[in-house]
Amino acid sequence: MTGWRAWPRSPALPWLLSLALVLAAALLAGRYAERAALADLRRSASATLALHVAAFRTEMQKQGSLPLALASDPEITAVVGPSPDPALLARVNDRLAEIARASGAAVIYVIRQDGTAVAASNAGEPGSFVGAMYAFRPYFQQALDEGAGRQFALGTVSGRPGLYLSRRVAGPGGRTGVVVVKVEFDGIEAAWRKGSEKGGEAVMVTDPRGIVLVASEPAWRFGTLRPVPEEERRLIRERLEFGDAPLKPLPLHPAGDGTLRRVGNGAEPARLALPLDAAIPGTTWQLHTLTRVGVAVARERIQAQVIAGLAVGLACLGLAEIVGRRRRLRASLAEAAARRTELEERVRARTQALTEANRQLKAEIAERQRAEAERQRLGRELAHAGRLAALGQFAASMAHEINQPLAAIRSYADNAGILIQRERFPEATENLAAVGRLTERIAGLTRQLKGFARKASGRRDPVALAGVVRASLEVVEGRLDGIDLALALPEPSPYVLGDGPRLEQVVVNLVQNALDAVAGVNEPRIAMTVRVMGERAVLEVGDNGGGLPEGGAQVFDAFFTTKASGLGLGLAISRGIVEDYGGTLSAGASPEGGALFRVELPLAPAAAQGADAVPGAAA
Ligand code: ADP
Repeated sequence: MTGWRAWPRSPALPWLLSLALVLAAALLAGRYAERAALADLRRSASATLALHVAAFRTEMQKQGSLPLALASDPEITAVVGPSPDPALLARVNDRLAEIARASGAAVIYVIRQDGTAVAASNAGEPGSFVGAMYAFRPYFQQALDEGAGRQFALGTVSGRPGLYLSRRVAGPGGRTGVVVVKVEFDGIEAAWRKGSEKGGEAVMVTDPRGIVLVASEPAWRFGTLRPVPEEERRLIRERLEFGDAPLKPLPLHPAGDGTLRRVGNGAEPARLALPLDAAIPGTTWQLHTLTRVGVAVARERIQAQVIAGLAVGLACLGLAEIVGRRRRLRASLAEAAARRTELEERVRARTQALTEANRQLKAEIAERQRAEAERQRLGRELAHAGRLAALGQFAASMAHEINQPLAAIRSYADNAGILIQRERFPEATENLAAVGRLTERIAGLTRQLKGFARKASGRRDPVALAGVVRASLEVVEGRLDGIDLALALPEPSPYVLGDGPRLEQVVVNLVQNALDAVAGVNEPRIAMTVRVMGERAVLEVGDNGGGLPEGGAQVFDAFFTTKASGLGLGLAISRGIVEDYGGTLSAGASPEGGALFRVELPLAPAAAQGADAVPGAAA
């Protein structure tokens, strides 16, 4: 992975690398193809070489046995004797000519012991060998000494190269001689040349010294494969082996990896050739072929180079595509990961914000609950304080209320005393009865007073609502003079569940407010109604006073008052009491023109209706 990542540092580098790869592949493939083609060429050239060797050998064998056959011929043996018969000579000459024609030998001749040719197949022709001196020829000496000899040389008379095959002849009178068959290779050379000119291989035969004896290229004859030492050259000249041939090295130069030769002498464009050689059996000679490394090999090489270059180039492109794809994939994966991270980050931030909001909400709820609890606690304390304040108020009004009956009791008691002194007993009794009634009334007032000071009891008894109204009116009786009081109290009264004295406190408060409202009004009127509405009992207190002050709803707020000596607690406490018993207290305008307050309370269960459950509170 890291390798791929590190690869494309420079944008040109991959292309340079690819180019280098393509070139290397083309080079290698070209070399391989060339080598394979050369191996093919070598195989076919080896086969051709073997054919050439066989053909050359056949050519040599054809005449090889001739000298042996001729050496035992009686006429030929006769001519090497001293002064042979001219007729015999003529006959032998004719026969030699005939045999030469038939066998394809260039010349056949017979040499006397002293080295002089006595008979020849070309006798009588221009350039006849007869009379020529051959004692210097190695093949002559060889045959005399060893019985047989052979030499390749230029003809001293003809000037034509050829292979001389010699044999010793035992002549009459202990004389010896030598019969020689000269084989020329013109025919085979011509055939080779034709083949070579048609684009085939060049062929040559060399002797053990590397001197070319027979060749498809006439110019190569007597050329050398390797330099000939000076001493050797001298000997060759002395024996007139190759005339005055300069024995120059052949125009062959190593090429390729050394197995090939570049053939050329500067005149024509050099060409590459594959050299092969093989020994010619039965001789010390070598046959060489130089097979042209033609355009076929070059074509194979170029084809291989193009194919390999294309293949590697395509592979590089494919690789580049794969690498590019991987890179794009990696980039898109990284992008997706970045997006995911960003998303996670946003979710995390959002979650944090929500958590914070939630925490704030919880804190707010806790704060509200705490405030609510505080409000309730304050409400309870307010109710209590209200009751205490009302107690003070009532104490003052009670003192006033009690003072009147007390003064009346005193005057009734004084009158009763005077009436008893005057023995007016019936009248005195009546006065004392009035005293009794007045004390009863005072007892009632103090009972109401106790009820105001009591805190919420939580008691719930069936209470007759009309009875509560009557009891309340007794409390304020002293203020009712001159008031047109309209009462609508049903019989039997509906019962509600609650605490009688506390409900009386509510009604007393409502009636006192109504009295306050109608004070100073012409024909002051107050109407009190009790009725049943569905599951509830309703009590209404209406007046024809000035009506509710602006923003009537706030009359229930604690300490809201429009009166100089008011506390603003009465309605707040009253609403609290009513709501304690599951009811409602509301305010509105009355048909009389003033205010109308309405108390609604749930009815007590049907079984309690009509039963005088609380005797003191009953009507
Ligand atoms: P207080 O009587 O001490 O003022 P309340 O809570 O009983 O306290 O009454 C609050 C206020 O409601 C009064 O000051 C008065 O302005 C108004 N109010 C109560 N009853 C009536 C009514 N019947 N007509 C007009 N205004 C009323």
